[in-house]
Amino acid sequence: MRWSQMYIPTLREDQSDAELVSHQLLLRGGFIRKLASGVYLYLPLMQRVIHKFSDIVREEMNRSGALEITMSVLCPAEIWEESGRYNTVGKEQMRMKDRHQHEMVLCGTHEETVTTLIKGEIKSYRQLPMNLYQIQVKFRDEIRPRFGLMRGREFLMKDAYTFDATEESFMESYQKMVDAYFRIFNRAGLDVVKVESDSGAMGGKAAHEFMLLVDTNGGEEVIFFCDKCDYAANVEKAQFKIDENISDEVLKEIEKVDTPGAATIEEVTAYLKIESNKLAKTLLYMADGKPVAAMVRGDRELNLIKLQNATGAVELEMATPEQVQKFTSAPVGFAGPVGLEKVDIYVDPLVADMKNMIVGANESEKHNLNVNIDRDFKATKIVDLSSTQNGDLCPRCDNGILNSKQGIEVGNTFMLGTKYSESLDAKYLDAEGKEHPIIMGSYGIGVTRTPQSALERYHDDKGIIWPKNIAPFMVHLIPLNVSKESHIETADRIYKELNEAGIDVLYDDRDDRAGVKFNDADLIGLPVRITIGDKSLKDGKVELKARSESDMVLVDLDNILTAVKEVLGRVN
Ligand code: ATP
Ligand code: MG
Repeated sequence: MRWSQMYIPTLREDQSDAELVSHQLLLRGGFIRKLASGVYLYLPLMQRVIHKFSDIVREEMNRSGALEITMSVLCPAEIWEESGRYNTVGKEQMRMKDRHQHEMVLCGTHEETVTTLIKGEIKSYRQLPMNLYQIQVKFRDEIRPRFGLMRGREFLMKDAYTFDATEESFMESYQKMVDAYFRIFNRAGLDVVKVESDSGAMGGKAAHEFMLLVDTNGGEEVIFFCDKCDYAANVEKAQFKIDENISDEVLKEIEKVDTPGAATIEEVTAYLKIESNKLAKTLLYMADGKPVAAMVRGDRELNLIKLQNATGAVELEMATPEQVQKFTSAPVGFAGPVGLEKVDIYVDPLVADMKNMIVGANESEKHNLNVNIDRDFKATKIVDLSSTQNGDLCPRCDNGILNSKQGIEVGNTFMLGTKYSESLDAKYLDAEGKEHPIIMGSYGIGVTRTPQSALERYHDDKGIIWPKNIAPFMVHLIPLNVSKESHIETADRIYKELNEAGIDVLYDDRDDRAGVKFNDADLIGLPVRITIGDKSLKDGKVELKARSESDMVLVDLDNILTAVKEVLGRVN
């Protein structure tokens, strides 16, 4: 492709609305433009990147035995009501009425649609297992659309759905997807890690995320890794082992003390001159409109996902100061479990192990000392509620220590179980003629998020360094002076030879200064650059440089194909 025939509106200036380097580079490189918040247009270079990545996804999905289909984005609201998700997905779902006042939604995921598709069609265990996938646009009215293609309101996803008769067969189907995912990301030049995640609103029993680890602030996810075993889990899910040193302190009498002006952990610990791990926080939340208290140790943070799972609430919101006053009879900062009526109390195991803890007294500017579980209050449930911290003990192995890294979620796999097949009535008959709900899995890959994520890893201060298999073109061909016949002749010849060998070339045939062309080449980041200039050309040579390397080499014109292949074989 010739640059003069392309549409590559590169920008010299940094764009003020792009916080992430990858977003900045896609805008400046003329890959994308923003139409509205979270809504982007893919220009020709981006379209080529998307095609290259989609081709890899498609090949590997097909290799795994999955069948490609296309499901409509537009969907009647009824099936979302049937599955029970119409209420739980809430405002993230784009909704509208058609001209007959019929409620319609724009799908952000397709479990309901695909289950509706196969129900009644799949009748027998003989038709299973099956895996259906698509590469399709998705709509989600994200609360915070940001970072360009990373979190859009309209984006592309590969979504696959498996259907199995038995648990064993399902585990095989799941593993096939996991293997396909590793092949897909590896081919795209991305060494992702698989981590345990929360299955959240999807339902189902287990889930994994595929994360690209990054050092930049593009890493929205925090992942904990064990330094001894292969335990890896995202922050929402990560657990840790409790040090089994239960204190043998004798239980003391409960005592109410004044703590004037001391409401926060820092203020209370400073005022009472104690360590924060002697204190237990009692935090009030509204779980689907009902007040609940969560107790975590003073030196720990509450993990909201864990609390949500423990309560089973769809909507979990922090109680307002008015609600805190109403349920605890005290302003914010003085809640405690003793005498807290009509409120379910969820207690973290670290708190359950405490002796003589200090808690709020449900009175303004007062705390209770020497409070003990069971004697002074009852837990509704003892359940893990604490966020994992760096240095915590691994929950899996003996002496492992957990540490966190930042990552970007590029894909995930969910064990759905029978949530959708039961609610939408997708059943099969086994060999004995008995009816069972089909066991399902669902598997997503961000087709627009993934290529942008790659740029968080692969760039330098001059621009993008595309992994070769998702680069819009493999070679950037630059004749320095297009008014010189020798330059054009040579460029034409190389262009033809590489194209014929199946290597796609962007031929910068613009009548522009060398500096402009080099800047653009560095910015858009194709893996190999070939430069044709007078100095080398008089010896029958051209300059060849890998975008990811600093050295340039001179190559005989007759050797150009071999040299290009050699570089492409070497670089990521
Ligand atoms: P996140 O936790 O980042 O919101 P999710 O759990 O909602 O992601 P899924 O619903 O499982 O993600 O979607 C599958 C994949 O689609 C994700 O792994 C991600 O790569 C991509 N994806 C999800 N939401 C967006 C979005 N708003 N914009 C672009 N890609 C997205
Ligand atoms: Mg999401």
